[in-house]
Amino acid sequence: FGFKGCQKIRGAQIRGLLEAKDFFLFDCDGVIWHGENAITGAAKVVNALIRRGKNVVFVTNNSTRPRENYVNKFTRLGFTDVMLDQIFSSSYCSALYLRDVVKVRGQVFVIGCEGLRMELLEAGIPCVEETDDPDATIYNCALAPDVKAVLVGHDDKLTFLKLAKASCYLRDPECLFLATDNDPFHPLSGGRILPGSGSLTAALEVASGRKATVIGKPSRFMFECISSQFRGVDPAQCLMVGDRLETDMLFGSNCGLDTMLTLTGVSQIEEAQEYRNSDLTTNHSYVPDYVVDTIADFLPAFED
Ligand code: PLP
Ligand code: CA
Repeated sequence: FGFKGCQKIRGAQIRGLLEAKDFFLFDCDGVIWHGENAITGAAKVVNALIRRGKNVVFVTNNSTRPRENYVNKFTRLGFTDVMLDQIFSSSYCSALYLRDVVKVRGQVFVIGCEGLRMELLEAGIPCVEETDDPDATIYNCALAPDVKAVLVGHDDKLTFLKLAKASCYLRDPECLFLATDNDPFHPLSGGRILPGSGSLTAALEVASGRKATVIGKPSRFMFECISSQFRGVDPAQCLMVGDRLETDMLFGSNCGLDTMLTLTGVSQIEEAQEYRNSDLTTNHSYVPDYVVDTIADFLPAFED
């Protein structure tokens, strides 16, 4: 006990696992692609799973694009059979949460990219208009009277004014505080990083003294979205494949799914082993059941 998990699998073991599962959840960045480049062999794997009648869905914390853009991206990168209803992004699930769970009445103040606003709009959720008045400050700007939620996502045009307005709206205890995801940062090439929306949310948590409700991984809500759109999903039949222990593996554990870490992304196997060997049992939720170097390791399983 305490040392299960992190099983590096290959060959016949992978074949057995793929045969045993009928529902595959793939994280995107670090598993399927790196930015604009598909992981070698990933398209073949995804296409083969779909052709074998497996259910395949994609769960991404990236809130910057509407789902249509993901369909186009999949097609562009050679994933020929991926359709809109297979894509679960933190922006799409945030829109579902606002529409179906809290049934928000009034406007949403959004910190995020255009793609996030597009998803909300598509779900019929009104967003506070962005002002581009260069003279606006928190001292002289107008605040909307009927803001019922603040939603924070990745925003590459973040300003102090947006943070200040969001902090004001959050003074109202009736105003919900939501975050598309809590990712701390995203590694770029050349040792650079992109601060994740978790870092923006943290700023607002300090300013407001409140805690945001997280929609994306590792929260269970994305799996609830999947379950409500694919009837009869049995967690025991699912495999969650991801590259980040603190989001993807924890998400899988939180939802009762078997988990697989692929080493093409953020987390290293040593970090997984450290969590596995930890005396703190809460750390065991980060431990993948299985580990592969890349999802291209699935390919031999499709050869007869
Ligand atoms: N959010 C942003 C803004 C990103 O750039 C990325 C990865 O590049 C992610 C989230 C993480 O996406 P995923 O959950 O697909 O790894
Ligand atoms: Ca990832």
